[in-house]
Amino acid sequence: MSGGPIILWFRNDLRVADHPALRAAMDAGVPVVPVFIWAPEEEAPWAPGAASRWWLHHSLEALARSLERKGSRLILRRGPTLSSLRKLIKETGARSVFWSRRYEPAVIARDKKVKAALKADGIEARSFNANLLHEPWTVATRKGDPYQVFTPYWKACLAGGEPEAPLPAPRSLPAPARWPTSHGLGDLDLLPRIDWAEGLREAWSPGEAGADAELRRFLAEPLRQYPEDRDRPDRLGTSRLSPHLHFGEVSPRTVWEAARDRAEAEGGAWGKADESWRRQLVWREFAHHLLFHFPHTPDRPLRPEFKAFPWSRDAAAFRAWRRGRTGVPLVDAGMRELWATGWMHNRARMVVASYLVKDLLIPWTEGARWFWDTLVDADLANNTLGWQWTAGCGADAAPFFRIFNPYTQGARFDPDGAYVRRWVPELADLDTRHLHAPHEAPPDIREAANVRLGETYPEPLVDHALARDEALAAYEIVRSQRH
Ligand SMILES: Cc1cc2nc3c(=O)[nH]c(=O)nc-3n(C[C@H](O)[C@H](O)[C@H](O)COP(=O)(O)OP(=O)(O)OC[C@H]3O[C@@H](n4cnc5c(N)ncnc54)[C@H](O)[C@@H]3O)c2cc1C
Repeated sequence: MSGGPIILWFRNDLRVADHPALRAAMDAGVPVVPVFIWAPEEEAPWAPGAASRWWLHHSLEALARSLERKGSRLILRRGPTLSSLRKLIKETGARSVFWSRRYEPAVIARDKKVKAALKADGIEARSFNANLLHEPWTVATRKGDPYQVFTPYWKACLAGGEPEAPLPAPRSLPAPARWPTSHGLGDLDLLPRIDWAEGLREAWSPGEAGADAELRRFLAEPLRQYPEDRDRPDRLGTSRLSPHLHFGEVSPRTVWEAARDRAEAEGGAWGKADESWRRQLVWREFAHHLLFHFPHTPDRPLRPEFKAFPWSRDAAAFRAWRRGRTGVPLVDAGMRELWATGWMHNRARMVVASYLVKDLLIPWTEGARWFWDTLVDADLANNTLGWQWTAGCGADAAPFFRIFNPYTQGARFDPDGAYVRRWVPELADLDTRHLHAPHEAPPDIREAANVRLGETYPEPLVDHALARDEALAAYEIVRSQRH
């Protein structure tokens, strides 16, 4: 290693704690030049959506402040990535570029090219694992194949033992003698032109400190009740760490260790709760494992027989779903929560996805695209797994013929109706017994609650029982492909 600075290329690892690439750069004992390069076209066809860009803006702002407190800076550049890096290398005299790995197919292809080109230039180019407990290629079946079923994957992960302890954040970063120029954050144009983000601002604090606060909130009490509350959209029963994990504002081993330590300190029921939460973290690992080994799955079903599925293209129904105006209260509550806050509870995600795919027969890929644009935690691995799981065409998926009844799901998982009342206020005065299926309420009860179907709240788009029969008939076509 010569004495030239090391460029630390930040991507979805927007933190300073438990950051292996940053640690390796610090260990080299030379100045560190942190840079973020905005090159969305290199991630096509899955360039970050509108809600992700909003999050990224604020996360970069938080990271820049945190680096400044440590005597450093965040240099912002625009793509193309390779030419930006080459220019920065020239400007700073850097001899090395370090970064954390990502697993999306377009990003892997881009990173491979960047690595090869930098090496050909005589530059040291090193990538590190910062965002997964298990790299996708390190967990394999006995035959050496990727896993496609969750439980054996989970067991294989556990058999690998506990993850290594997280690395502490450095107190300060060695600065170069002269800083290269940087764009202003506003130059990246990440924020929407028309400000629709008020609900997002109220709901979230992007950045490492925001992630830490959310983790503490979750560990203080909700973790204990997680197995019971994780399915309740009316309760604050989950960690809400998904956008923070996606943008790498906290590492999976940090949250894994923090939950384990809390559970060990408390004993009793906390151990079971911790295991249940860790399972979800391992679902995230599984999703990345699948995306890495089956890189076509964001756009095509993992199970090829599903290519024959006779989808409908009902544009009006799709619009009603997006706007939360399907006439099914739990579906509408979920879709409005998504629109207002950029996030939706997992139970609601499963129900709205199932409704789109199985009641409206609209392709899961259309739903995945809408989620991609509107979720602050839009993550190619997790989103693909979630949609393929719901549509029955993915790894370890729910069988297609198990069709959620969105009305009984509402009564079961939002039993007091608090979730629906919050997001569908026009139904707020309806008594709980009728809240989840207002079209079945006697007219006088609706009238007393000021609910007029077709006026104040939509009639259901479809009859669930008929839609279910149609979906099963459509599925027969898929089944026939298998023989
Ligand atoms: C149709 C559909 C689409 C989805 N799209 C996304 C997405 O784009 N991004 C995303 O992060 N999650 C997605 N999920 C998974 C899940 O809904 C969210 O991760 C979860 O709701 C986030 O809330 P939380 O952080 O409070 O979760 P917690 O219950 O606290 O779980 C902790 C963490 O585990 C991970 N996790 C939890 N459930 C899952 C799961 N089923 N699959 C993979 N990882 C999981 C997340 O990183 C989460 O932050 C999707 C699920 C469905 C059904």
